[in-house]
Amino acid sequence: MHQYLSNRVKNLATSQTLAMAAKARELRSQGKDVIGLSLGEPDFNIPDFIKEAAKNAIDENYNSYTPVDGYGELKEAIITKFKRDNNLEYSASEIVVSTGAKQALYNIASVLINPGDEVILPCPYWVSYSDIIKLKGGIPVEIKTSIENNFKMTGEQLKNSINEKTKMVWFSSPCNPSGSVYNEKELKEIVDVLKSYKNIFVVSDEIYEHINYKGGHLSIGSFDAIKERTITVNGVSKAFAMTGWRIGYIGAPEWIARACNKVQGQVTSGANCIAQRAVITALNENPDKIEYMVDEFKSRRDLILNLLNDIEGFECNVPDGAFYVFPDISYFFGKEISGIKINNASDMSMFLLENALVATVTGDAFGNSNCIRISYAASKEKITEAVSRIKKLLK
Ligand code: PMP
Ligand code: GLU
Repeated sequence: MHQYLSNRVKNLATSQTLAMAAKARELRSQGKDVIGLSLGEPDFNIPDFIKEAAKNAIDENYNSYTPVDGYGELKEAIITKFKRDNNLEYSASEIVVSTGAKQALYNIASVLINPGDEVILPCPYWVSYSDIIKLKGGIPVEIKTSIENNFKMTGEQLKNSINEKTKMVWFSSPCNPSGSVYNEKELKEIVDVLKSYKNIFVVSDEIYEHINYKGGHLSIGSFDAIKERTITVNGVSKAFAMTGWRIGYIGAPEWIARACNKVQGQVTSGANCIAQRAVITALNENPDKIEYMVDEFKSRRDLILNLLNDIEGFECNVPDGAFYVFPDISYFFGKEISGIKINNASDMSMFLLENALVATVTGDAFGNSNCIRISYAASKEKITEAVSRIKKLLK
């Protein structure tokens, strides 16, 4: 790393999801037939009604800077969506639209974390949480969960991790990478703990809310006891297959939303105008319109679980949402396969890429070093071929 780079950047890890995707791309450009199951990116086309809205926005000459925190009509669509899908009441001054949920998370960290503040992360957590927190001088505090508990933290674990430095709890449900979904009882347990800590905030990342195979997504912000301390994060990358359009948003107490708006005003001036117009249409539609994608993801989940459960040494939980499986592969640690010793999850992920030409992501990136993450946002043919290659290699 170059000596003149800031220490902040020297200490920043590269996003492992994006790094693996880049590696797969590079191997493909060398003519290798790599199956990419590393990136969490829906492989569907954007629904036509959203494409139409974007084309109309161009024709209607939406060219200018938008309000920093998003078009008023988009905020209205978000307010309606929060009420309709999540039983959350927000007003326009409590909504901020950003360049992806990733920037929304970055804004939140910028406005709430002081150096030395601790942020509790149930493990496994999404790859960028810990580095965004560290970039702001915060200290990620991991809560280890187990496959037996479907990788979910309990109220008791949360309580035991809280001290006077705790500022926030960040988690996603449905979870990337484990696919776990917190039910009402489990969320209530968390709320019951947090009720008595009036200075601890919750970041609830609900970007996979619609990709939920059991149905009944519940927002932790809908519990009155902590609504005033909850920031609900969402976006259109996953539900509407709009990853490249880069629109995410939050609902938050007004003072937090205003602060995020201030940060954004100095950093991006707001999200892309055409994408915002398209998202108004997307959010105003009934979520039924995207059910065909969810049905397909569910059938792929069943397929990949069946195939993986047939490989000795792969132990999987049953993910109830998102589009990842997170098998524990620690059975292979210390073993030699085709003359190569597998010592950890990173070795396994590299081994699979180089020898089976299947791209996955090491669990280390998500705070769990016994697992690897496999995205099933790919066709059934690709999933079947990838797992068959893995099985052959590990036999
Ligand atoms: N949160 C989670 C849990 C995610 O998986 C992702 C993946 N992209 C994001 C946030 C960021 O989404 P966006 O594309 O809206 O930045
Ligand atoms: N969220 C996706 C993933 O976890 C996309 C990659 C990223 O944004 O880092 O793979």
